[in-house]
Amino acid sequence: MAVDGAPKKKVQAMRVSGYVIGPCSACSKEQRALVMFDDYAWGVECLACGHTERVDDVEYVPEGDVEY
Ligand SMILES: [Zn+2]
Repeated sequence: MAVDGAPKKKVQAMRVSGYVIGPCSACSKEQRALVMFDDYAWGVECLACGHTERVDDVEYVPEGDVEY
């Protein structure tokens, strides 16, 4: 896997609900949830359009930190 110093993709997610903060890169809706791929890599899945995306790091934030 080539890295080439690319910045790691990091998302903020809520530990309990798995809700991922931020808009989907495909449809821009903020309805993403944390998923784990077959190789145990973290990713996000958009609940609106089904777009999935791998992430390198997950930062957990407390529930309720984000206003819906
Ligand atoms: Zn989407």
